[in-house]
Amino acid sequence: MTSVRFDVAIVGTGHAGAQAAIALRQGGFDGSLALIGEEADLPYERPPLSKDYLSGTKTLSQIMLRPTTFWAERKIVTLLGRRVMQVEPGAHTLLLSDQTTVEYGVLIWAGGGHPRKLTCSGEALSGVHYVRTRADVDAILSRLSTIERAVVVGGGYIGLEAAASLRKLGKEVVVLEALERVLARVAGRELSTFFEQEHRTHGVDLRTGVAVEGILGQDGHVTGVQIAGGEMLSCDTVIVGIGIIPAVEPLRVAGATGATGVLVDQHCRTSLPDIFAIGDCAAHVNRFADGATIRLESVQNATDQALVVARTILGQPAPYDSLPWFWSNQFDLRLQTVGISAGHDSTVLRGDVKSRSFSIVYLKCGRVIALDCVNATRDYVQGRKLILDRAAPSIARLADGNVPLKELSIQ
Ligand SMILES: Cc1cc2nc3c(=O)[nH]c(=O)nc-3n(C[C@H](O)[C@H](O)[C@H](O)COP(=O)(O)OP(=O)(O)OC[C@H]3O[C@@H](n4cnc5c(N)ncnc54)[C@H](O)[C@@H]3O)c2cc1C
Repeated sequence: MTSVRFDVAIVGTGHAGAQAAIALRQGGFDGSLALIGEEADLPYERPPLSKDYLSGTKTLSQIMLRPTTFWAERKIVTLLGRRVMQVEPGAHTLLLSDQTTVEYGVLIWAGGGHPRKLTCSGEALSGVHYVRTRADVDAILSRLSTIERAVVVGGGYIGLEAAASLRKLGKEVVVLEALERVLARVAGRELSTFFEQEHRTHGVDLRTGVAVEGILGQDGHVTGVQIAGGEMLSCDTVIVGIGIIPAVEPLRVAGATGATGVLVDQHCRTSLPDIFAIGDCAAHVNRFADGATIRLESVQNATDQALVVARTILGQPAPYDSLPWFWSNQFDLRLQTVGISAGHDSTVLRGDVKSRSFSIVYLKCGRVIALDCVNATRDYVQGRKLILDRAAPSIARLADGNVPLKELSIQ
């Protein structure tokens, strides 16, 4: 059994963990530093997995977060292919799956999440895939030539992006969404309707309000999906995109609080001594969500929380207070979203949906709280300030796509 010690140990080699290590070194931290992750790869970008990497326009080397030599050059020890099984907060130790014991001064937990699995029969058949890691997508790519018809379960961003990528590759695609509209958890009805139409125009058989009852198979391989009402959809591939479960089990066992993920304060501290949590797994109070406790699953949140932790460790603490933003690419559409639309009581459309370049502005009590911008980067850039200013612009001017958002000051 090996035993090692690091001043800072970071669990998770995704966006949050990698960025925390980078920010610490950039900020002058010269203690010992380790990045520990269960994946075999050095840190890579996750968003392209359902976009350019799946559709074959980017390779693994093009999506690496930093060149291979970067980490060793900065004395960041990478312990890959090892899962943290246990955290002992009192002793400040971790137990890894290869039985290594890691002693830490400070622990940054950046475990992200694991894909939520289907619970119906047939989930374990070959040909059923998830889209969370490079290895997940490589498993799809290794079978690409044999894929003719895929059923995508889940009409969230990942499911829709995977569907768009597979259409680009000429595959037949069915999308099944259990709720009455796609993107229901993250966007307003107008945007859902727009993306549903776009997918259908691009040949996707998109169905909403559909419950999956089971995955059917023969000789261990998927052959179809049974949906409620009795219909059987034949397919050779199922891609599941139904969300994640925060990867925080060892922290929870160690006593960390939090209803979903791990609860952190404004400096990303957990309830356990010298342990921070950042990224997809960190539940925090967010003022852009009206003070609700939420987890954000975005590169923005992972990166910004990593910077908050690095600053705290470096002795220059500044609370997490970032305006959330996100993007999604599907077909030739670039969606950019800023703010959190949940809780809005009205919307204003800017531009013409038919032109495929428009924005939906979300308001609450007359104040702008979020924007979804489709092929409308100018609105996305200028709309940020309206949210930060809690602006209450004239609805007529807001709806006029010819009026730049930067001209709509607080009224
Ligand atoms: C297909 C896809 C497309 C996306 N597209 C977008 C997008 O367009 N825009 C956007 O903003 N966001 C997007 N996201 C979300 C974004 O990638 C995540 O929010 C971001 O990666 C979160 O970073 P993280 O470091 O918190 O978690 P992750 O990136 O999930 O990294 C966590 C790492 O920790 C590891 N780990 C977990 N538990 C343990 C353990 N016990 N021991 C060791 N290692 C462990 C995991 O294996 C993983 O490698 C996308 C995500 C996916 C999957």
